[in-house]
Amino acid sequence: MPIYEYEVEGGDCTICGGRFELRRPVDRAELADCPLCRKPVKKVISQTHSPKILKPTSISDAKKAGFTVLERRDQGTYEKL
Ligand SMILES: [Zn+2]
Repeated sequence: MPIYEYEVEGGDCTICGGRFELRRPVDRAELADCPLCRKPVKKVISQTHSPKILKPTSISDAKKAGFTVLERRDQGTYEKL
């Protein structure tokens, strides 16, 4: 079951925190209201699930994506590439 991320309109709520994740079956209709506070919500495309960011094809791609690439050296020290 996929996890969907939802954000309350305005992004601020004292009941649900303004943003929450919910596990839903794919065939279920999109959630329109927060199950806790009943405010209108919209689905958020989570940046962390993007395969482009998780799996850069090369070091230069990773750098373009804003990553600092570290290479392990002996004694647990890391060198900036
Ligand atoms: Zn709420």
